[in-house]
Amino acid sequence: MKKDTIAAISTGMTNSGIGIVRLSGNEALEIADKVYRGKEKITEVPSHTIHYGHIADGEETVDEVLMMVMHGPRTFTGEDTVEINCHGGTYVVSRVLETVLKYGARAAEPGEFTKRAFLNGKMDLSQAEAVIDLINSENEYALQSSVSQLKGSVKSAINELRSKILYHTAFIETALDDPEHISVDGYGEILKGVSEEIIEKLQKLIDSADDGRIMKEGIQTVIVGKPNAGKSSLLNLLAGHERAIVTDIAGTTRDVLEEQIRLQGLNLNVIDTAGIRQTEDLVEKMGVDKAKEYAQKADLIIYVVDASKKLDENDEKIMELIYDKKAIILLNKSDLETVVDENLIREKISNLKKEAEQTEKSEGQRYQVSENIPVIQISAKEEQGIQTFQDTLKEMFLRGNISFNEEIYITNARQKNALVNALESMKKVIESIENGMPEDFYSIDLMDAYEELGNITGESMGEDLVNEIFSKFCMGK
Ligand code: GDP
Repeated sequence: MKKDTIAAISTGMTNSGIGIVRLSGNEALEIADKVYRGKEKITEVPSHTIHYGHIADGEETVDEVLMMVMHGPRTFTGEDTVEINCHGGTYVVSRVLETVLKYGARAAEPGEFTKRAFLNGKMDLSQAEAVIDLINSENEYALQSSVSQLKGSVKSAINELRSKILYHTAFIETALDDPEHISVDGYGEILKGVSEEIIEKLQKLIDSADDGRIMKEGIQTVIVGKPNAGKSSLLNLLAGHERAIVTDIAGTTRDVLEEQIRLQGLNLNVIDTAGIRQTEDLVEKMGVDKAKEYAQKADLIIYVVDASKKLDENDEKIMELIYDKKAIILLNKSDLETVVDENLIREKISNLKKEAEQTEKSEGQRYQVSENIPVIQISAKEEQGIQTFQDTLKEMFLRGNISFNEEIYITNARQKNALVNALESMKKVIESIENGMPEDFYSIDLMDAYEELGNITGESMGEDLVNEIFSKFCMGK
């Protein structure tokens, strides 16, 4: 690894009160001395101290600054680090950076500070990734989950599993090398038990990825309902501005619109779709098929009903689509005279459930068959019932059970993928045991699982992959 000294602007590139140029590497202190004019020399001051002075490019004074001097390894990167607190104008910060580059530092690549922290053993890869997630987090839940991961929650869970796997692999290898003294009789059963335990833990982590994704990226939400039910009006109301085109002509919202809405600490990624109904019109049909497809994949379906009109077979079709999913039914247009109420909806849904039970077509969904789909009266026009809707949402998705101290949430697709692969390998271990395969078969799959988990912490990982991961970071981090 190159041990040169890197520098970058670590604060945002907008005019602001303070900007920070960070230097890290073997020569950070020496380079700082070349550009710093103050009472003492940076190379001579104690670690973790702050010094007032100026940055100068030869004869020219560039800015008045505070220098934070920190000796490695007690720094973020593990290397000697100097943070130059200068004035926060984009031009002046750039000039300070330019000056340190001129006197021997190299411009850092995106994520290079964190990469050095990882390579110097200050953190594992899951913690490094938590740094990006923390910077990018857009709500409280995403923030809390990154903080927990940064503190090492994922790292310790993974390391525990890895050391268990390693112990058993080592046992098998030793036993095979020394069959006279160590017997593997009956060992298969023990290993099977251990493997089942590991599988259970892996599965729990994998399952957490869905919740993790919801926290990080938001709830994938689909709004369905017949044309003119008020879907666009609702979307506009939630989004707080005119987005979809609201019209009186049935079927005008043809294209799929996406809107990000922040509600009570949760993010809704709303996909508004064409109204679901039977139609011969091809263009409209595309919209309808898409709506069905999205509804299958969604975390939440919001079904908007025009309560001032009688239900028809199209409503039945929609209810069939949603009754066993995580859904909220909104009875819209409550400002008008209504003909649809909660009881009617409940009756229809309970009939659908009964039918499903009879034909046994109901399969276990992630959120189980919704015991009670909330039915809420609203008026998108008069802005009524929206608070109830928001409270219901919060209850459905947060249920007070998101606690970051005990539970770990995997929020990262790369990590989830490694967990899934590790789980597959562990299943193979059990298969080999059940099929009475020789012991060395077990250890191959055990090692595969071990390596896969190592990808999460970054212990068994090639340089290319490491570079790819850190290239996703922002500049100066
Ligand atoms: P979409 O086709 O489901 O997207 O429905 P729109 O949002 O375009 O609404 C269709 C019509 O119903 C428009 O004229 C809206 O102004 C009207 N509308 C929507 N919500 C309400 C409501 O709560 N009360 C009343 N009276 N009219 C509504």
